[in-house]
Amino acid sequence: MAWFSRKDKNISPDVVKKDIPGGLWSKCPSCSEIQYKPELEKNSYVCQHCQHHFRMTPEIYFDLLIDSASKKDLFTEISSTDTLDFVAEKKYSDQLKKAIEKTGKSDAISCAEGKINGKKVVLGVMNFSFIGGSMGSAVGEIISRCIDMAGKNKLPFILICSSGGARMQESALSLMQLAKTSSKLARFHRNGGLYIPLLTDPTTGGVTASFGMLGDVILAEPGALIGFAGPRVIKQTIGENLPEGFQTSEFLLEKGFVDHIVTRDEMKSKISSIIDFFS
Ligand SMILES: [Zn+2]
Repeated sequence: MAWFSRKDKNISPDVVKKDIPGGLWSKCPSCSEIQYKPELEKNSYVCQHCQHHFRMTPEIYFDLLIDSASKKDLFTEISSTDTLDFVAEKKYSDQLKKAIEKTGKSDAISCAEGKINGKKVVLGVMNFSFIGGSMGSAVGEIISRCIDMAGKNKLPFILICSSGGARMQESALSLMQLAKTSSKLARFHRNGGLYIPLLTDPTTGGVTASFGMLGDVILAEPGALIGFAGPRVIKQTIGENLPEGFQTSEFLLEKGFVDHIVTRDEMKSKISSIIDFFS
């Protein structure tokens, strides 16, 4: 037993254990290696042991992609309201308030105009920390305005997706965003606009069923979960085991749903060369 061996080894119980400062370490959910957060940050939140891409906030994506001093935030004043007075386990109005406090953002997407290697773009980044990156009326409206703005100014529109799907607390108001954003993108495409979605972990539900899959070139981060319904639901519905790697970026690339997998170190140069190619 532990206390006998401690006595045998003559280890004094009075030895003070060294405290590891809280908040400085992070465990990789893929390989379980402990990561020193400042190192992880330097490596764009990619695990040095297994290359797992950790989830990132919109700010870090903006820093990674947008040329310094060229960023201008867009549509920061738009946020969802609780039109239905929706109450499930929690009140939706409370959830919204908490998410705004936690993230400092008005809703689950941040958008900006800026330059990628000198080329002006409109860039949207969804935020999984804001009610699971769910798409409510505000997210749909912001994306629609970004598409309009990119169309009017003849700029490419890049959207980094990360979402659990439609925001059920908004019911049909959320679901109509699928049709709204899809029809905006169809018009944008007809007028020669370039749209590049980049799917990150996880991109699921209504986002996959609409703007997530409507790009001219569809990019994905390695190992991201991308799908409509989750694997457990599909397994139960079809009553069969699912193939290995089902619903990962690599699986979707093999099946032709995704065009390229891009790691964070090459993300900016890849997007930049795609824009060059299309212009
Ligand atoms: Zn790892």
